[in-house]
Amino acid sequence: MISTYVLFYNKLFKQMFEWGLVPQKFIVVSGGVLSGIGKGVATASIGKILQQYGFSVTAIKIDPYINCDAGTLRPTEHGEVWVTDDGGEIDQDLGNYERFLNIRIPKKNNITTGQVYKTIIDKERSGEYLGKTVQFIPHVPDEIKKRVISAADGFDIALIEIGGTIGDYENIPFLFAMKSLERELGRENVAYILVTYLPTPSHIGEPKTKPTQQAIKTLGESGIFPDFILCRGKDPLDDVRKKKIEIFANINSDCVISAPDVPSVYSIPLNFEKEKLGEKIMKRLQLEPKQKPDWTTWNQLLHNIENPTNSIKIAIIGKYVDTGNYCLQDSYISIGESLKHAAAHSAAGIEISWIDSKKYETGEETIKNLHEFDGIIVPGGFGASGVEGKITTIKFCRENNIPYLGLCYGLQLAVVEFARHACNLELAHTTEVVENTPHPVIDLQPAQKEILAQRAYGASMRLGAYCAVLNPESNVFKLYEQASRIVQKNNLTALEEFRKGILNDDKQVVVERHRHRYEVNPKYVDVLEKNGLIFSGHHLRNDDTKLMEYIELKNHPFFVGTQAHPEFLSSIEHPSPIFMGFVKACVERKEKRN
Ligand code: GLN
Repeated sequence: MISTYVLFYNKLFKQMFEWGLVPQKFIVVSGGVLSGIGKGVATASIGKILQQYGFSVTAIKIDPYINCDAGTLRPTEHGEVWVTDDGGEIDQDLGNYERFLNIRIPKKNNITTGQVYKTIIDKERSGEYLGKTVQFIPHVPDEIKKRVISAADGFDIALIEIGGTIGDYENIPFLFAMKSLERELGRENVAYILVTYLPTPSHIGEPKTKPTQQAIKTLGESGIFPDFILCRGKDPLDDVRKKKIEIFANINSDCVISAPDVPSVYSIPLNFEKEKLGEKIMKRLQLEPKQKPDWTTWNQLLHNIENPTNSIKIAIIGKYVDTGNYCLQDSYISIGESLKHAAAHSAAGIEISWIDSKKYETGEETIKNLHEFDGIIVPGGFGASGVEGKITTIKFCRENNIPYLGLCYGLQLAVVEFARHACNLELAHTTEVVENTPHPVIDLQPAQKEILAQRAYGASMRLGAYCAVLNPESNVFKLYEQASRIVQKNNLTALEEFRKGILNDDKQVVVERHRHRYEVNPKYVDVLEKNGLIFSGHHLRNDDTKLMEYIELKNHPFFVGTQAHPEFLSSIEHPSPIFMGFVKACVERKEKRN
């Protein structure tokens, strides 16, 4: 009798699913034991698996800090600031989601404590609570749920990653809100995943499960019991330890998933699939697969990453490299990933050296060491520190035919270098560093000066997706064309549309994300062009100002600068055209030298 009911229910459910009547599903990912163990990548990997089963997936990052966004956070403290199409300055985990899921995520998918409280306080001040006492419960969880539901709207499945570690005070309201979401939507629509770490102390030599047991217990204080535990650790988790977690934490060992360190993060979805995580999650959420996964392309790309036919050496000459005794690469994570994406498509291996530009401010000898690299990148940056070292680096690349890629500040300083050494404008500079330089080749636009005069720093940046028109003769155009990244103006997405600027009659544009204040000074474009600098693309603003977006040089294997951050639109399946061009030039230099 019971089995007839089950059969009937399953059939009905299948039918509902086909009619699109199955409710939206939520997967909440939290972390235990310690931070920085790869919750973001785990979340992105789960999303990828579910995409492969045919679901539309989005991902939401909750950052429990009080900042309203990551815009004012120091990269050495918090890693890279990720930029969305709609101008959000966000935690770098959104980058992981986009790189894996190949979707464009808006800024509302990042929720912080600051945003939640600001909204509640603003509402209270404007009398929207109609005289009620405004309290932590229910108003804070309600605001959190509202934001989660709005970000999840339109997708089959939303993954919600809660930043920080279980046990942090600031996590509590978010866990409470998720539990409340489960109560409202039903247990079958919300699943919980805990990502933990199993340390292997060297004197013991085996992975210890106790911190994981404690994390499960702490999570229980919020009424949440994890459906799956992803066990991070140096090595794969064996059955003995899985059983131990089963017994001590009362979770079926089938739901304890091994998540060992791997050379490439792009192998993680495949590792999870070996343990049938996708099927298990679908079962838990009462979902039927919409399609059979096809990992062929992904596997091929991963194969290329793991078995490169060539190996190139790239130096990233930046500022935010050292903190104390440690070298922090997180502040440029998207650049490293974009290089890997391009390399995966060129079957090249990449060795990246992160070098502090100050090193090249001390004389000719050190700079010659750069000869050993196949390509050099000067990434984005702010302020005066290390700037002369970057300019020396750029001059060296220009004069010695070393492939050069300048990203944002890397374009601006390439313009400064060219002005100084190829146009005879000896003291040329950016006014960001020398305000009264006689040749302000990089300068603020008048409108931005006004904003800055009012100390409204947060509002003075050109942020988010902007369109550029490219010169069809340029190398940059060819790169975008090869990657099918030239878009028809009337095909822009809603997010891109709002920053498109006035583009006269140009019908074809390219879109990249931006995060900067200063621009190439239009007054110097002529003299720079006359001396051989090519401006290969521009953005035309409503007030008719032409903002230069790309530079390149003739008779150089690869010398390209962009005012944009193409690293924010690169994914493993669709690498950035600019990075593809750069990596290709590096491979060619390497082959020539062999
Ligand atoms: N500091 C420069 C500006 O504000 C460049 C910024 C960047 O590299 N993101 O324009």
